[in-house]
Amino acid sequence: MNLILNFFSSVLDAIFPQKCVACKKDGTLLCEQCLCGFPVAPPAPLPFIHSVFDYQHSPTKNTLWRFKYKNARGFAKVFAERLYEEIIAELSDNIDAGSDEKYLLVPVPLHKSRLRERGYNQSSLLAKEIAKYDRSGMFEFAPDVLKRVRKTKPQARAEKRSARQANLHGAFTCSDYARVHGRTIILIDDITTTGATLLASKKALSLARPRKVLAFTIAH
Ligand SMILES: [Zn+2]
Repeated sequence: MNLILNFFSSVLDAIFPQKCVACKKDGTLLCEQCLCGFPVAPPAPLPFIHSVFDYQHSPTKNTLWRFKYKNARGFAKVFAERLYEEIIAELSDNIDAGSDEKYLLVPVPLHKSRLRERGYNQSSLLAKEIAKYDRSGMFEFAPDVLKRVRKTKPQARAEKRSARQANLHGAFTCSDYARVHGRTIILIDDITTTGATLLASKKALSLARPRKVLAFTIAH
């Protein structure tokens, strides 16, 4: 019976969390004070990837685990604001004032069977929230241009990039060349480790000859 109660209470906590994940203060998923204290990410593994927070920090890791697996979808809004700021800072050198080009916001997709199991794609939630911060209409949410066509085995953290890349071979495909061609693509994912997933995504999109592909993650 306890097991069942625990299960329901953890489900409820995930859906209606009462306390800050880091300091346990009531009334917020992650308080501003704790978020400000999260250490910044070390340099990302590949130059086109930009991350905000250091994944080795336990509260960051714990938060992202809940966001990905425990239905704590509310974190999308919390982290989208930080990612939005990071993207704007990175793009500021590239933004052409006279251009009305919209940047394509592309979440790293899950395979449809995994999406069914998990019920949501955390990267898609993030990209959607980032689009909401974009009051000037610079971004276009484009979740359908990249597809995960092959189900891959979960990647172990210890695996090298070469092993991860082999596992991801042929996993992604660009499903709308016309929409991607000549555009700047902003790939969104929650975490990057070796960069293999983002690199495989970039390669698939590159076949449609975009202008540029950049990637942003919450943590590395
Ligand atoms: Zn807190």
